Order: sequence, then C-alpha cells, then structure tokens
Amino acid sequence: MSDTAAPEAQHITVPKVGFVSLGCPKALTDSELILTQLSAEGYQTSKTFEGADLVIVNTCGFIDEAVKESLDTIGEALAANGRVIVTGCLGAKAGQAGGDTLVKEIHPSVLAVTGPHATQEVMDAVHAHLPKPHDPFVDLVPPAGIKLTPRHYAYLKISEGCNHRCTFCIIPSMRGDLVSRPIGDVLKEARALFEGGVKELLVVSQDTSAYGVDLKYRTGFWDGRPVKTRMLELAQALGEIAAPYGAWVRLHYVYPYPSVDEAIPLMAQGLILPYLDVPFQHSHPDVLRRMKRPASGERNLERIERWREACPEIVIRSTFIAGFPGETEEEFQHLLDFVREAQIDRAGCFAYSPVEGAAANALAGMLPKEVREERRARFMTVAEEVSAAKLRSRIGATMQVLVDSAPALGRKGGVGRSYADAPEIDGTVRLLPPEKLSKQLRVGEFTRARIVATEGHDLVGVPV
Ligand code: SF4
Repeated sequence: MSDTAAPEAQHITVPKVGFVSLGCPKALTDSELILTQLSAEGYQTSKTFEGADLVIVNTCGFIDEAVKESLDTIGEALAANGRVIVTGCLGAKAGQAGGDTLVKEIHPSVLAVTGPHATQEVMDAVHAHLPKPHDPFVDLVPPAGIKLTPRHYAYLKISEGCNHRCTFCIIPSMRGDLVSRPIGDVLKEARALFEGGVKELLVVSQDTSAYGVDLKYRTGFWDGRPVKTRMLELAQALGEIAAPYGAWVRLHYVYPYPSVDEAIPLMAQGLILPYLDVPFQHSHPDVLRRMKRPASGERNLERIERWREACPEIVIRSTFIAGFPGETEEEFQHLLDFVREAQIDRAGCFAYSPVEGAAANALAGMLPKEVREERRARFMTVAEEVSAAKLRSRIGATMQVLVDSAPALGRKGGVGRSYADAPEIDGTVRLLPPEKLSKQLRVGEFTRARIVATEGHDLVGVPV
C-alpha cells in the first residue's frame, strides 16, 4: 500500500443565481451580458427563486404596467428568496417620497439597485453578496456569450440611449443620450454569433438610423479595413458577414430619415432582409410635432413609395399611438388613410396612456379613455384589413422559412417565419407535413415552403 494518500477531491460549492429578465430586447441584451459574465466567473443559474443563493431582476420602467410587473416580480423574489439585486430601467427611476430610487422606496430590503446597461455594477453587487467561486474549470463560456433567445436567432444591440425627446417617452431620462458601440466590436460580436449557429440577427437600439451620430460617424476598423460608424456601412458589413452562413440580418427601430433610402438597395440585392421596422407612431404632421418625433417633417408616404419602387418585396412594420392628447377626429382619419395608402404590412397600436414623468402629460386635450380605446380598435380593424390582404397575396408563392419549432422529428410539420416576420412581434408560417417523406424539418434551419393559405396574422405552407 502506498504511504501517500491521494489528495482529497476539493469540494467546491458553486453559487447559484436566479435571473428574471423583463422588458424590451434592449433589456434582454443587458441580461445576456450579465449572464455571460456570471457564467464566465463560474456562477450557475437556478430556474427557481428557492433554489438560488441570490436573485437578479432586470426590470422595465417604460409604461406604468411594466413598472407594476417589475415591482411585483421583485416582491415575489424577495418573498421566495430574500436576497435580491435589481437592475434595469426601473432601477434608474427616482423615488416619489424623496428616496434615492423607487425600487428602494417600495422594497427597502433589496441588496442593491442599478440602472440599465450596468453589467459591472451588477457584478460588483454579486461579488459583495455572493463571493465568486474559485474554480478554473468553470471559467469556460461559449465565444458568443449566453443567449436568452433560441440558438438560431439573436439580438444585436448597436447603441444605448437616445438623443430625441419624444413627449410620450421617458427612455432618454432613464438611459441617457445616444452612445454608439464601436463598429469593430459590433461586427466582432456579429461574427461570433453566426459562428455560434445564429441564423437571424436582429439589429436593435432606440434609434438604429442614428447609429454613429454621437461619434461623428468615426471610422473604425474591422478585419483590417476601415469602416464608418454609420447605419449604412454597418448594414452592408453585417450582410457581408452573414452571407457565408446563409443567415438573415433584420433592422429594427429605423426612423424615416433620407439617409435610410441608401440602405434599400442592400435589401434589393439580398444582402440584408427587405424588412424595415419603422416606428411611425402617427402620420399627421401636427400630431407628430406634438409628439416631437424624429423625422417628423419627412414626407413619409412618398418615402415609402420610393422604397417600394426600389425594392418591391419590402415589408414595413410599424407601431402607432391612437388618441394622443389633442388628436382630432380629422387627425385620426389622416392616420387611418396613411395605413391604407402606405400599405403597412404589420402594424401595432397602443391607445395613448400617460407615462409618469413624460412631457406629454402636460399637453392640452387629453382624450377620455373610451375615445382612446375606441380609436385603437378602429385603427386595428383597418390595419388588419391591409395586413390580411397582403398575406392573401402570398398564397401560391414559395418562401424561404426559418424553422422555429418542429416536433415529431420534423416530419409532421412545425412553425417557422419568413423574412416578413420578426420573432415575437409578427406572424408565423405554420408548416404542414413536408411533401416528400424523406424531408425533415430542423429547428434553426431554413426550408422552402409553398404558401397555401392564411390564418389570421399567419401563413400556412407546405415544405417543398
Ligand atoms: S426616439 Fe423617442 S420614443 Fe424612441 S427612445 Fe428616443 S425619445 Fe423614446
């Protein structure tokens, strides 16, 4: 028997962190950064509050309902676990009774509160309350980071904050002015995502068309060549990086500035998807002025017509607000006409609801809630007519579809999306069992499908 005993295996208890991510895709990317960092440092995640050593809640503070949802979630985490760190937009909101933050005022026992995009502050709080484990074997993390989205699509945040001051919005007061990420970093992240299996990249920010304004469109570097920090150059480079992977690039939150016209040929060439998410919010120039919307002086109808001439397959998705303070029936009719004439493919609409701290609350002419709701309903009737007709026109066409789910080994059909559908916000393509018995649908892969019917906001297709 050897007299040297084998060293005792060191038992390392890995601390577990519970994580709740609320809010928009921008908040989601913040969550991904924090989760990536936690994983890189060797923390594990817990699916339950009870099974965690500490819980992080990434909050949203955009509208009153989101504030309530965030505060309720913090309350639930405190009740179930007791050790909670709060981050995100709501964390930046000042208290009403003179307190530092609203969160501390309502939930004084939270361990720490930070604002949005504060990975380092959140990690500092985690280190203080749940010291990090020392285990070199857990220091491994996939190069694309930890994604909260399915493996085949990902959001790419290109900037933070916003230089506009739309009167209904409090985001700039929470997130500050526009800060664009260096273009080299953005493109590096994009390539890592494609290498990690991402087939659809969704470019997000508060104002994608303003990318680089704060940096005076500075020239950065990517792959050893100069590239301007500007939406057009970014879109072109992303399209080129995506091409060898056969992946899609989709632009969100683009305002109708003249400069956007230059990106349309990239869509016509197939470099990026012919899809634009343009949050118009209204069409009437007076309402847009009261909203202080970016590009409010632009002739949007003419602009859209030109976009469609240059790229006939372009799909335009937008959001609108019905019943903004002072909106007359005539102004509202203008909006309905706009949706019909502009043939907005996908439209969402909110009935105006006052957001605490927004400048619009001081505007004259607040409409009764019933009027705001009734206008929203009328808007949606028109928007759905337009959208349904556009969907019907696709029957008989063969479209490329990215498969999101495919049970039963992909032989019994599944669900996917065409270029016209962004995840979560647009419709889907319900896939029937493939025509050929040998064909199998695989999640995260493309298939071609012949469109045979429509179903509400969705299409139905047969994989071919
Ligand atoms: S563009 Fe307007 S609505 Fe959008 S984040 Fe900036 S201020 Fe808010």
